[in-house]
Amino acid sequence: MRQWIVGLLALASVQAFAAPTPWQRIDHPVPGPAQAIGEFANGCIIGAQPLQLQAANYQVLRPDQRRYYGHPDLLMFILRLSNQIRHLNLGDVLLVGDMAMPAGGRFGSGHASHQSGLDADIWLQLPRQRWTAQQLLKPQPLDLVTANGRDVNAAVWQPQTAMLIKLAAQDSEVTRIFVSPAIKKQLCRVAGEDRGWLTKVRPWFGHRAHMHVRLRCPADSLECREQAPPPAGDGCGAELDSWFLPPKPGAGGPSVKKTPPPLPPSCQALLDRHLITP
Ligand SMILES: [Zn+2]
Repeated sequence: MRQWIVGLLALASVQAFAAPTPWQRIDHPVPGPAQAIGEFANGCIIGAQPLQLQAANYQVLRPDQRRYYGHPDLLMFILRLSNQIRHLNLGDVLLVGDMAMPAGGRFGSGHASHQSGLDADIWLQLPRQRWTAQQLLKPQPLDLVTANGRDVNAAVWQPQTAMLIKLAAQDSEVTRIFVSPAIKKQLCRVAGEDRGWLTKVRPWFGHRAHMHVRLRCPADSLECREQAPPPAGDGCGAELDSWFLPPKPGAGGPSVKKTPPPLPPSCQALLDRHLITP
């Protein structure tokens, strides 16, 4: 009986987490000069712009989801990175995954961050041929990590993948990049002498087929809350090793907060206005 109740409770909390949020009902950017507001995992954006779907050097995955909005700095970054990829002949097209919703804010499921228009998922494969509309709607991720999570899969890992992550990390607007610990380990192995960029590449759960790129707060987004910089150094020593140790008793994956923190006042005001005059 007790188990049955616990099971029900677990189900209820999963459903609560997956419940749609009011942000998902906002289908247009909030007009105004671009302002990223709040934290990456508790914020919103005014004046977001859609990433253009027709572009020479990148393609947008799952365009039907309309998660291709962001601060203009994010759009410029994607353009810059995709031009570099093409220029260096690392691939023909950069595959862009989720960015933010039109006004940013919390997703019903999937992402904790991506809320202030400064985060983007970039897939870690660089096709030589543009994907068809069908492939973009139902993209097949390429898992770069072995089943035990300890190494990259040598059969699919390519030197270009390391170059792609390095280029993104060297961009002065980028503050953090999240990848699987196995991918970080591989980057540590192949980096050679030039290791400064590795500081920004952070091991995290998942992220076996894409990297999550985070930009700095734009200077004129006064309500944007910056994260503390990652620890100095290349992060290839004890910190990385700790990801490969057996989990401590009671430690699970990333903690899922059941009750989201209060919104930044400007985001709450935006939501209140929108819900009165949808
Ligand atoms: Zn992400």
